[in-house]
Amino acid sequence: MNKFRIGFGYDVHQLKEGYDFWLGGIKLEHEKGAVGHSDADVLIHVICDALLGAANLRDIGYHFSDQDPQFKGIDSKILLAEVMLLIRDAGFEVGNLDTTICLQLPKVNPHIPTMKICLAEVMNISENDISIKATTTEKLGFVGRQEGVSAYCTALIYSV
Ligand SMILES: [Zn+2]
Repeated sequence: MNKFRIGFGYDVHQLKEGYDFWLGGIKLEHEKGAVGHSDADVLIHVICDALLGAANLRDIGYHFSDQDPQFKGIDSKILLAEVMLLIRDAGFEVGNLDTTICLQLPKVNPHIPTMKICLAEVMNISENDISIKATTTEKLGFVGRQEGVSAYCTALIYSV
């Protein structure tokens, strides 16, 4: 019988003018972008953390330190591909992911189909197994003030 495991990921990045805004593996056109050691793709980071957590393999910062210059400005899709190798090496396959992005602006919904195609390709899983949802926070808090973006992910993995 397959063993099923679940994991959870949460992450925040600051939004500032003069930075690119990478989200879900694609670049959004916006006057602000996300700040971080890597390309600061908050959606990919929570997916990585949920998968690593499900496999009990620590977290993204453990594997890809933000003190390590080799990860400076790195495309988070590369980190996600590495995480998939770790998950599969540990004997697991991905069941499904469910994610939520919290962002006031820009509107994420029109970009979700493209993000799903991009992430499915990086992870080598079906688009049907990747759910991406988006919400504003009704102009409340740091997300509502457009100072940051946050995201959540739950992941199911199973032993193969
Ligand atoms: Zn992050």
